[in-house]
Amino acid sequence: DRAHVIHDASAALILVALAPVTWVVGLVVAMMVIVASSPTLGARGYLLLSYLFLGLFGAIVAANDLGIDAVFAVAAAGLSVGPIGAYLRWREARIADAARRTDMLIESSSAMFFEIDVATMELVSLRGQVEPILGADPSAFIGVRLKDRFHVDDHDVLDELGDDGRISSTIRYLHPDGKERWLRFFAQTSAVGDALAGERSSIVTGVAIDVTALERSKQELRHRAETDALTGLRARDLMLERLRDALRFEPERCAVAIVDLDDFKWINDTMGHPAGDALLRAIGTDLGSLEGDDVLVCRLGGDEFGLLIRGDDPRAVAERTARSVLDLLSLPRLIERVDLQLSASIGIAVGWQGATSRDLLRDADIAMYEAKRSRSGFRVFTNRPESLTPSQLSTVAHLTRSLEAEVTLWFQPIIDLATRRIVSVEGLARWDHPEHGILLPASFLPAVERGGMSERLDWLALSAAMAFAERAVAQGTPVEVAVNMTADGLRSDRLIPALQKLLDDGQPLRYLTIEISERDLHDDITALQTTLTSLREMGVGLALDDYGTGFSSLIRLRNVPFTQVKIDRSFVSGVVGDRTDQAIVRSTADLATELALVTVAEGVEDDATADLLEHLRCGRAQGFVFGRPRPADDVLAALAHQRATVAAAANN
Ligand code: C2E
Ligand code: CA
Ligand code: CA
Repeated sequence: DRAHVIHDASAALILVALAPVTWVVGLVVAMMVIVASSPTLGARGYLLLSYLFLGLFGAIVAANDLGIDAVFAVAAAGLSVGPIGAYLRWREARIADAARRTDMLIESSSAMFFEIDVATMELVSLRGQVEPILGADPSAFIGVRLKDRFHVDDHDVLDELGDDGRISSTIRYLHPDGKERWLRFFAQTSAVGDALAGERSSIVTGVAIDVTALERSKQELRHRAETDALTGLRARDLMLERLRDALRFEPERCAVAIVDLDDFKWINDTMGHPAGDALLRAIGTDLGSLEGDDVLVCRLGGDEFGLLIRGDDPRAVAERTARSVLDLLSLPRLIERVDLQLSASIGIAVGWQGATSRDLLRDADIAMYEAKRSRSGFRVFTNRPESLTPSQLSTVAHLTRSLEAEVTLWFQPIIDLATRRIVSVEGLARWDHPEHGILLPASFLPAVERGGMSERLDWLALSAAMAFAERAVAQGTPVEVAVNMTADGLRSDRLIPALQKLLDDGQPLRYLTIEISERDLHDDITALQTTLTSLREMGVGLALDDYGTGFSSLIRLRNVPFTQVKIDRSFVSGVVGDRTDQAIVRSTADLATELALVTVAEGVEDDATADLLEHLRCGRAQGFVFGRPRPADDVLAALAHQRATVAAAANN
């Protein structure tokens, strides 16, 4: 029975298989599958075609009168296969579209895309601008560890990624052409894997772009900032940066030296700038050769070079290097067919705990000027930092640089008490400070002295005084011009020859009076005797300034060839109500007359005092009532005005 059933079933199956309906339905499905696999057909086309076939086979079924069952079968097959196929088609197209857009993006971008297997760190895929960036086509890199092609210093950049890390970093890539490239990387680790199989692994997906051009220009800019264009030495900023570092970490192990060429300005002016530049370049090369582990050489600007020295005994290294610099510079060098032998002045300052780079440069600067003045080659700054207050030190540093540029003389009239006319002026130093305006001597004379600049100030004052005298003579109002000089200035053995030269040049030295403060005389007046005598012989007047404040007496000073005595303001200002002051002024004036000296009373602030001083037989007076110190132009104008009024009075 069972065999009977099986027989019936297989007979039915054969019947069905042989039935024309089956054939037709099979054909419908087959056609649709064929059509569906056509790559050019879209979802809509597919739907259209499937209905076309459906109609066609429906017609065949109807024509052959295969029965209503066959019609249903064909309709069911066509209606289900059609939309499903169309949907699949549509989805596929969307995915392909997205992929195409991604491809386009990848190919048109200037980036390279890569994937790295985290387990092996090998590249598993590469796309985009692989060849332009890496220098070979992707096949050369698959299975290669990318980081092996990085610069050693960048080897562990990718290691920072870890399991779910993200990096964005710039690395140096060793291009097959042998040149280094800079690549900017963005990479991220993510887990991928077959969810069904349960296999998960981490891969790094990343993008890289070539930023070599950008990096080069950045480096170029940095290089330019750190290098002096003319000499190729390091630039000032770089040295300052290194100095700051050195001072922060081991201040006592560093020193700076400032090297200033002695006659560069002269060379530049007489031989021209190209020659000057050539010279600086040559010196730059020479000094550059001194650079080493413990010496950094830079150009500070102009004809100034700087050395930063580090070592256990920075002072010794600095001195040794300074000697080498002087030796190098003294070698004759041919510039524009002229044999030049140079000299330089070098100032050295050694760091100390708490020193700033400014401190050190300032100290080195002061030492350098010392060296220049004494023509001693190099000097080490020895002024203990604690002996000068910071503000004094900065004043010293400022003036060291700009004394001649910023300090000028103002002039105060000195009048003849009998005629009340200006017969003389006193030049008084004024510092035209870039920030604080006009400063009085009290605020900067100590710094001038401590900084060893007295002689420079005296020179400045002497030349300004002579210039004033010349102008006064030229406008027809000759007056005496007095200047204050320090004992240092008077002791300088360069004073007399220099004045002699002025005299030989035809300068009106007979109008000049040099004022020496009684306080500066002390006991060593005999040491100055020869100088003062020579000055008198050249026609220069000599005034004993601030008389009464020291311990000398006119009697004791009678061997000194003074021409004037200036009674200090402290006896003058209160003279009207003070009998003692009156006695002092009167006896001084009398004695001065005996000794053939002109008496000048200082600090006269009102007419009553002026009248009393005249009565006490003072010859001249100086003070605010007659005029405050003013710039040269103003005082020359006052002199011209005085001449005009005197002439007018004479005409009446
Ligand atoms: P000094 O030589 O005794 O100069 C006179 C000072 O008295 C000046 O002060 C002047 O402005 C001030 N003075 C003049 N008339 C009057 C007045 O009626 N009343 C008052 N209260 N003061 C008056 P200044 O210009 O401040 O100079 C101070 C000192 O600085 C000078 O005293 C002098 O010792 C020194 N000095 C000024 N210029 C130079 C210079 O070029 N070289 C040197 N080595 N020392 C200078
Ligand atoms: Ca004076
Ligand atoms: Ca005085």
